[in-house]
Amino acid sequence: MYDVIVIGAGPAGCSAAKALADGGKSVLLVEKLSLPRYKSCSGVLIKRSMELTERYFGESVPEAALCLPVENRGMIFTDDRGKELRFEQEGRNVWRADYDNWLARKAEAAGAELRDNTAALECSDFPDHIEVKLHGKEFYSEKARYVIDCEGVVGAFKRKLTNCSAEYITTFQTFNKGEISLDPHYFYAYLQPELSEYDAWFNVKDDMLVLGVSVKDMSKTGEYYANFLEYMRKAHGLAVERQIKEEKWLMPRVRPDFNIDGSVGRVFFAGEAAGFLNPMGEGISSALESGYQAARAICESFSDPAAAAVKYGIYLRPLRTYMERQWHFVGTIAKTFSEM
Ligand SMILES: Cc1cc2nc3c(=O)[nH]c(=O)nc-3n(C[C@H](O)[C@H](O)[C@H](O)COP(=O)(O)OP(=O)(O)OC[C@H]3O[C@@H](n4cnc5c(N)ncnc54)[C@H](O)[C@@H]3O)c2cc1C
Repeated sequence: MYDVIVIGAGPAGCSAAKALADGGKSVLLVEKLSLPRYKSCSGVLIKRSMELTERYFGESVPEAALCLPVENRGMIFTDDRGKELRFEQEGRNVWRADYDNWLARKAEAAGAELRDNTAALECSDFPDHIEVKLHGKEFYSEKARYVIDCEGVVGAFKRKLTNCSAEYITTFQTFNKGEISLDPHYFYAYLQPELSEYDAWFNVKDDMLVLGVSVKDMSKTGEYYANFLEYMRKAHGLAVERQIKEEKWLMPRVRPDFNIDGSVGRVFFAGEAAGFLNPMGEGISSALESGYQAARAICESFSDPAAAAVKYGIYLRPLRTYMERQWHFVGTIAKTFSEM
């Protein structure tokens, strides 16, 4: 019997597992993919994510996880009328596979048992514990007093447990060799409705130009992406020599009246699985923070799941308020976001 089984070794799961292990709890951290696992991401750690990494993992982001340009200096938005807004802030540029793998290894070093290639399928509830059905090389079960579900966007485990339905945004991004007349130290987001149904973006990772669009209707991806390339060519001198790779992923579709799910019985949710995602797809900071707070609430009220759930709800309030403020703000600069 573990004290806690944590599902998913992303930022939320790793920060939960690390905090639980630091708090003396026995923790099993399961990850369905093989580590280091790939995650489609712009890999921008905003200042808050840098600070939380240092606070909860005891060290700043390691060099091995960084890509060029190492420094991210902020975000430049172009609103739905083509007006530019600059937000200067220190940040870092990372490859997610390396950053997340480092987080997972830190949780492991603190005492969490890390099992990759292991998917959590479903769970059964008992009066004093939970049994989680796992799929590694074979099907088997493990027991724990609590589960923290940090499975990220798709949330199949959560859907089975709660019967909730989820809405998604499809992201499409390409990595290219080429040239452009933009400062590579910034993340650029474009909110004009002709370029995407959500946002379109540009950033630089190592010597690659990353260009992406997000859509609600997947069949429109090609059309929006072509519009975006043409816009970047005219507005910023984009010249693509060669496309190296392309990828599609999903993000939760957040609406202004979004819902955050803290827990159901002995199962707590953190990160995207709980519903956290800030505008322009910034989700690492809330994943790190909510994972930590779930672990904190469980450690503090271990013998009383109802009390732990109440505490977790209270600890999540600042994150929820921050997210509300952020979504309200983008609603004021782009109509798409106020009508979501
Ligand atoms: C294109 C794109 C760009 C983005 N850019 C940024 C950015 O620049 N900065 C930023 O802050 N955020 C960015 N985000 C958002 C960010 O990636 C997420 O919000 C963040 O990763 C959420 O962390 P998490 O721990 O909740 O989930 P994840 O990081 O998704 O981790 C979940 C983990 O759970 C595992 N898993 C899933 N199901 C199971 C299961 N049943 N059993 C076991 N394991 C399971 C997954 O394999 C995964 O490793 C971006 C997202 C996208 C799609």
